[in-house]
Amino acid sequence: VRVEVIRPRCEGHGLCEEVAPAIFSLDSDGELIHAFDGREIPPELEAAARSAVTVCPVAALLIERSGQ
Ligand code: SF4
Repeated sequence: VRVEVIRPRCEGHGLCEEVAPAIFSLDSDGELIHAFDGREIPPELEAAARSAVTVCPVAALLIERSGQ
């Protein structure tokens, strides 16, 4: 899967970083860094990715089906 960040919605709460630090982190300006932006998330990180999508309080993360 891929996860899309809807940046205008993201408020930098960092909950996604807590559950999926290998994928999401906040830089010093509170800007969200997505380590797999536009890329397929490795299978071993998929569960963490799904948790992050669930935990985001403003629904700024969306699961995208990979396009095949
Ligand atoms: S949990 Fe949601 S609002 Fe918070 S930093 Fe992550 S994407 Fe942004």
